[in-house]
Amino acid sequence: MRPPFAVKPVEELLEGSLSEGQMQFWEWLADYYMCSLGEVMAAALPTALRPEGLSDEEFATEAYRPTMENYVSTVGDVNEAFESLGRAPKQYKALLEIAEAGGVDVPRKGLKADVATLRALEKKGLVSIAQREIARGELPPLPTELPVLSAAQEKASLGIRSKFANYQVVVLQGVTGSGKTEIYVRLIAEQLAAGRNVLYLLPEIAMSSQLVRRVRGWFGDRVVVYHSRLTGRRRAEVWKRVRASEGGMVVLGVRSAVLLPVRNLGLVVVDEEHDASYKQDDPAPRYHARDAAVVLARMSGAKTLLGSATPSLESYSNAAAGKYGYVELNERYGGAMMPQVMVSDTLTAVSRGERKSHFNKLLLDRLKETLVQGRQAMLLQNRRGFAPYIECGECGSVVKCGQCNVAMTWHKDDGVLRCHYCGRAQRFPTVCPACGAAALETRGFGTEKVTEEVERLFPAARVVRLDRDTAMSARRYEGTIAAFERGDADILVGTQMITKGFDFGGVALVGILNADNLLAYPDFRAGERAFQTITQMAGRCGRRDERGQVVIQTSQPDNPLIRQAADGDYAAMAREQLAERAEFLYPPYCRLVEVTLRHRDGARLWEAANRLAVTGRDVFGRMLLGPQPPVVDRVRGEEILALMLKVERGSSFAEARRRLRELLADSRLRGVRVTINVDPQ
Ligand SMILES: [Zn+2]
Ligand SMILES: [Zn+2]
Repeated sequence: MRPPFAVKPVEELLEGSLSEGQMQFWEWLADYYMCSLGEVMAAALPTALRPEGLSDEEFATEAYRPTMENYVSTVGDVNEAFESLGRAPKQYKALLEIAEAGGVDVPRKGLKADVATLRALEKKGLVSIAQREIARGELPPLPTELPVLSAAQEKASLGIRSKFANYQVVVLQGVTGSGKTEIYVRLIAEQLAAGRNVLYLLPEIAMSSQLVRRVRGWFGDRVVVYHSRLTGRRRAEVWKRVRASEGGMVVLGVRSAVLLPVRNLGLVVVDEEHDASYKQDDPAPRYHARDAAVVLARMSGAKTLLGSATPSLESYSNAAAGKYGYVELNERYGGAMMPQVMVSDTLTAVSRGERKSHFNKLLLDRLKETLVQGRQAMLLQNRRGFAPYIECGECGSVVKCGQCNVAMTWHKDDGVLRCHYCGRAQRFPTVCPACGAAALETRGFGTEKVTEEVERLFPAARVVRLDRDTAMSARRYEGTIAAFERGDADILVGTQMITKGFDFGGVALVGILNADNLLAYPDFRAGERAFQTITQMAGRCGRRDERGQVVIQTSQPDNPLIRQAADGDYAAMAREQLAERAEFLYPPYCRLVEVTLRHRDGARLWEAANRLAVTGRDVFGRMLLGPQPPVVDRVRGEEILALMLKVERGSSFAEARRRLRELLADSRLRGVRVTINVDPQ
């Protein structure tokens, strides 16, 4: 029987493993993001290292067990052994291989023989297999050759260094394809040479093997990689390796890598710093890795470099206000030209009879050209599945999820309707659930449908798709990227996932099938995000010799955002969006705290939310907004209401959080599930 587990103080269990600085950083996270220290710890510690995860004994033996490797040795008289294996050629061959490799402590990994064969030999008592720790040894030498920078990169690099003399944080705004990575590599090498550690953050999806390979190419085993696909065991190992490092190591990781116990930190690089995936929405701590990284660096006396082609307006305005240093890089690497961007009006195309399925003639013509030239194209459609919703032709009702107030998406490949909020799946109904008519029709189009249409229009083209459905397995995801990289596919269809960080040399054309989707989000950040997505997507093409082409299909060709994105005019976008945010008081001119309330009973929820709003307004006045139902106001059977607190610049945010904490503690919200999201994205 397993003994009942005993709760021990965190400090005791983590004795010696957490520096004072780390604890201070965790406390900051809990305080700023309004959650408990336990929640921070649960997010930071790999499961195997969590006190509640294992008993003391397991904690000592299992979790701290270093990376093990199997070693094979022959047992007894080898000649006798060979004789006994006359009827087992596979085992004979395996034994021969071991004997030829010296016969003692031969690493299993280096052998051609498979595990089953070795186990069979072990069973016969002819070999022994022992597990031992891999010799870690010293860190590999630092690279003697570093990437050669172009004149423009050199200038930016010098600019960053000189800004670091006066600023703790520097924003590097470099156009897509300008070679920011080479600049990072040079700065990182300097830190490693000085004996310090470096934290290099990337959005999850940009953690492609492409970039990891490149960084490893420079720094070899000094690079420790941390992402969400690691096994629990591997996470624990990374944690231990990072904690043990006194310096000279690059921690390359996603959002959660900011929670790793990096000591002697010299530099934090946050690449694609505008990316929304740096914010954790669920569960707590609902932290923003970029903002947390800036704080961590400050606490550690390190510098932070925020890199992007399209910086977040928060970082951009911090630079404009003189809080952050700012360096620009406006030239593409290797003399590549910025792509030519064309806006194609969908309504005009329809009226002229120049639209076939979801393609305007312009995009079809360019696609044909690209294929004829033997080059590659990428098509962005920001909806996955086949059809985003199913509508009844008789009564007009839309098929919704039974648990969530949201339309079900038709996934033709899997033959199911799926809810993108709770994951529930059902068959395509034969009749309308509302009126009983057999008149259900698919509406809109997702990546599956685009793929099908492209295959129909260009039967000779090899088409691959990348979205959350096809990227479910890491192998399939890597496989798709590798195939496209090798040129084994002509057209890549995908969601926003394909906009990030990839560098495919052969892409000559990028098509954005429906930019209207990008503008339609009911959020104050919609404009900024649309600009970022279009710019990043456009940046995927023409990265080598020939100039790339981008076709943006939209029914709003005169929308200022579409114009700004087409012209690559970030400054105009920033000016306009910031003016709007100043007028309606949104970040960066205030801070937001979103309080979300959930309950199965809508009436009780409204009552509790209204009560909270009334008492809340005694404290915060008109700066507390709501309650209001969010766009999707029922998920998994729970009704949802939200309140929003705005805290103006200049008034104490710490004080506001303290008062909000008190308010929530004093309110009678029994049975109502409350979540607090500071700086929601
Ligand atoms: Zn109907
Ligand atoms: Zn649902």
